[in-house]
Amino acid sequence: PYDGPSADQILAKRKEFLSPSIFHYYRNPLLVVDGKKQYLFDDKGRRYLDAFGGIATVCCGHCHPDVVEAILNQTKRLQHSTVLYLNQAISDFAEALASKLPGNLKVVFFTNSGTEANELAIMMARLYTGCHDIISLRNAYHGNAAGTMGATAQSIWKFNVVQSGIHHALNPDPYRGVFGADGEMYAKDVQDLIDFGTSGQVAAFISEAIQGVGGIVELAPGYLRTVYKSIKKAGGLCIADEVQAGFARTGSFFWGFESQGVVPDIVTVAKGIGNGTPLGAVVTTPEIAEVLTRSSYFNTFGGNPVCTAAGLAVLRVIEKEKLQENALVVGTYLKDRLTAVKDKYELIGDVRGRGLMLGVELVTDRQLKTPAKAETLHVMDQMKELGVLIGKGGYYGNVFRITPPLCFTREDADFLVDAMDYTMSKM
Ligand code: PMP
Repeated sequence: PYDGPSADQILAKRKEFLSPSIFHYYRNPLLVVDGKKQYLFDDKGRRYLDAFGGIATVCCGHCHPDVVEAILNQTKRLQHSTVLYLNQAISDFAEALASKLPGNLKVVFFTNSGTEANELAIMMARLYTGCHDIISLRNAYHGNAAGTMGATAQSIWKFNVVQSGIHHALNPDPYRGVFGADGEMYAKDVQDLIDFGTSGQVAAFISEAIQGVGGIVELAPGYLRTVYKSIKKAGGLCIADEVQAGFARTGSFFWGFESQGVVPDIVTVAKGIGNGTPLGAVVTTPEIAEVLTRSSYFNTFGGNPVCTAAGLAVLRVIEKEKLQENALVVGTYLKDRLTAVKDKYELIGDVRGRGLMLGVELVTDRQLKTPAKAETLHVMDQMKELGVLIGKGGYYGNVFRITPPLCFTREDADFLVDAMDYTMSKM
């Protein structure tokens, strides 16, 4: 049993000692004290189905015993910066991670977060090409440091940073975008940006395959294939941000970019890959990686033994428990059930995504697609009362993000959909 401070006491301390910028979900914020598989437990021992934690931290389930064991064993043995000395954890995980990537993507740099990974990817592309211009997508989220905040393209996540050399292309959003699901049409905007907004040469294009923070927006079919061609012609590199869509989540593929039939020059990963430990990585080709030898590049804890031991355990669990297959089977089932609920309520404007990366967009008017922001908060709150946690996203905060740990079951999917259906039936 939990005998720590109450939710109110913690909230009071947060107000006094933590940054005023931190926010929390739910009118009565949830105090979570334990996690197991796809479940979280509050201070009273009440169980919640965690249909959002898959992205924030865990891809193979909260406190997976194999991952916990790997972390404990390595912590007991040694924790250090791995850059200066040799240790097997970092090289074993680098090899395992590289083996999951296509082509010549086999050189890994470790970081502590997704932001750091994208910062490094952007810097390497600029060094490699000698160009400064970066094209990213409107509605994207790539991080919150000086460079990545420029690439991030939602005003709600931006401060007054110098946004140098960044161009934001039309978002190939099949639901809200001006060209519907016509990937080729959106791709023309990238060519236009190159032609009319740069010298004709660019450093890189960066995008997710499915925008996470942006509200589970799956890029229109065919988009990346055409854009990658334009970027290559302009001498640039293609960066795939797989921080959310990677690592088996989309079910049909291990990586999000594979659904668009492209091979990037640089891939960035973070979040779920450490199952809760701070771990990020940039994977690229030996030729591109070479640019970092021009000066000294150092990251104290990037790739430390404890986190990379966790990362290796995660990869093994994904394989052992066939989690990619599970994401496909359960995700497809869940999407079908959500789509059926959409037919019942005008409030649901769109159901989308792949595998266990699904979005449900709420609108007060299906024709006008007016964001149903208050309703989204209400449904989230009510679902929490019923024992189901989901996330939200999208620029208007009106999209449910359903990204559970990959061990999510069919029964969990039923419970989630029933809770949503019940909540909407009472509105
Ligand atoms: N890229 C994507 C696609 C993300 O969703 C995020 C985090 N929301 C980041 C990068 C940044 O990762 P981190 O918060 O670990 O810096």
